[in-house]
Amino acid sequence: MSEAQSIRVEVLVIGSGAGGATTAIELAQAGFEVVVLEEGSRHGLDSYGKSLPQAMQLLYRNRGMTPILGSVPIGFVEGRCLGGSTEINSGFWHRLPPEFVLRWTKQFQINDFTVESMDEHFAWAEEKLKVTEPPEILPKSTAIFKRGVEAMGWSARAVPRAASGCVNTNACAAGCPKGAKQGVSQNLIPLAEAAGARFVTDCTVKLLLRSQDRVTGVLAEIRREDKSADLVRIEADYVFICAGATQTPSLLRRSGIKFHVGDTFQIHPMLKVCALFDEEVNAQKSVMPLIQVKEFWPDISFGGSFFTVGQLAMNLSDNWPENQKLMESYRNMATYYVAVRGTGRGTVRPARFGTEYTIAKYELSQVDVRHLSQGLARLATLLLSAGAKAVYPCVQSLPAIDSELDAVRWLDENLPKSALSLTTVHAFSTCPMGERMDRCAADSFGKVFGHQNLFINDASMLPDSPGINPQGTIMALARRNVQHFISQKR
Ligand SMILES: Cc1cc2nc3c(=O)[nH]c(=O)nc-3n(C[C@H](O)[C@H](O)[C@H](O)COP(=O)(O)OP(=O)(O)OC[C@H]3O[C@@H](n4cnc5c(N)ncnc54)[C@H](O)[C@@H]3O)c2cc1C
Repeated sequence: MSEAQSIRVEVLVIGSGAGGATTAIELAQAGFEVVVLEEGSRHGLDSYGKSLPQAMQLLYRNRGMTPILGSVPIGFVEGRCLGGSTEINSGFWHRLPPEFVLRWTKQFQINDFTVESMDEHFAWAEEKLKVTEPPEILPKSTAIFKRGVEAMGWSARAVPRAASGCVNTNACAAGCPKGAKQGVSQNLIPLAEAAGARFVTDCTVKLLLRSQDRVTGVLAEIRREDKSADLVRIEADYVFICAGATQTPSLLRRSGIKFHVGDTFQIHPMLKVCALFDEEVNAQKSVMPLIQVKEFWPDISFGGSFFTVGQLAMNLSDNWPENQKLMESYRNMATYYVAVRGTGRGTVRPARFGTEYTIAKYELSQVDVRHLSQGLARLATLLLSAGAKAVYPCVQSLPAIDSELDAVRWLDENLPKSALSLTTVHAFSTCPMGERMDRCAADSFGKVFGHQNLFINDASMLPDSPGINPQGTIMALARRNVQHFISQKR
């Protein structure tokens, strides 16, 4: 590594995902000099849609293998590329329900935060990402799920997505090769670049440099293709950290900023089930099921998962000796999930050894276990009503559920906690925003307490778990906050 060089810019944005891209476009269009530093690489559509292991190598942090530690370890994935997790997500779109606008205002004292004031920010993001209603002709795994929903009479809907023109390539998690799924590299980033923002990829911010109550810049490593790297010192008037729910608190703490940082990590723990049907579903050739059940929201939601034959094998592996024969029937199977609004306690810390790693911990609460158990009971009942012959939960040593009597057991009993195989793709709340100095890391507009020119504008700032797919809320809040910043500077 060569010696640190020094550069000066007006605004530095760290991370180019949902929060970072929104921050960059607004600032650039308002005339600020903006440089975005992104740890991952820039890829074109020709690199998207590869096999999942290849995609994980290119687009994911830790090649898609990041555990959240706890008495029940939870598999977590997030993006690490230009566009961040928006490049590999499913594009499901929700506005923050009014109940949560009120609850967060009350619990965290967020100023000027109302459903009405947020509308324009959601509408802006929906227009930019071409959010549309799902197609009228539903893919098979969705149609089957709908049958179950109707049999149960539950409140559910096919969820709008940032994926207009989706042609069912079943590649969301590998980056959409058709450019239908709207990662922000398809929309906000080119627009921000046209407005003058510069995106520097393969560049990891290692440390924030501080002097009293100001951040003076960052120390970043820029990597080249031949694997050589430069350490660069970039000075900035203002710094926005948008590195995501795990990396933002890790970077802040590594830089000595710890006030309510990384102490309140929240997730939506997710339990998957595979369902076997008499009919062919061919989920491996289709976009994932598009309907979500919100009858038991905000605590419990159900929906459908990305499906490949390899993923099926992984999901069946908890009880492989009994389940392996099912692989022959993969065309007749689909995967669904129960997600709960986590109520456990989580933390994020930089690893003590080596500066580049982050340790996320989450201790599943008894309430989480209760909700996962009830959720499994209800989801299994729904799928059996839809015609499933049996439902195979990702729970070690738990036999297949093939009758409603087997399913309802979990309404009253708890699943064995240590046998749960859980995953999540929704993480937040590591730097809650609001005026409550006893629980928030940043003020009502993301300005980090104790600092004049340092802002958080990503999933970290969500004060609590929203119980819905979070990207819309992150983008709408990020735009609101950066517009507040711009109005103050003018
Ligand atoms: C597989 C998957 C499916 C999902 N499905 C949905 C969905 O359907 N709907 C929905 O609403 N949400 C979904 N999500 C969640 C959603 O994508 C995220 O909540 C959202 O993208 C988070 O935005 P963010 O800006 O906080 O972080 P990200 O979008 O993850 O962006 C953070 C960026 O910061 C970069 N970075 C991190 N550290 C550094 C550093 N030190 N220096 C420089 N750069 C750094 C990262 O490389 C990354 O590119 C999904 C997520 C995943 C992974």
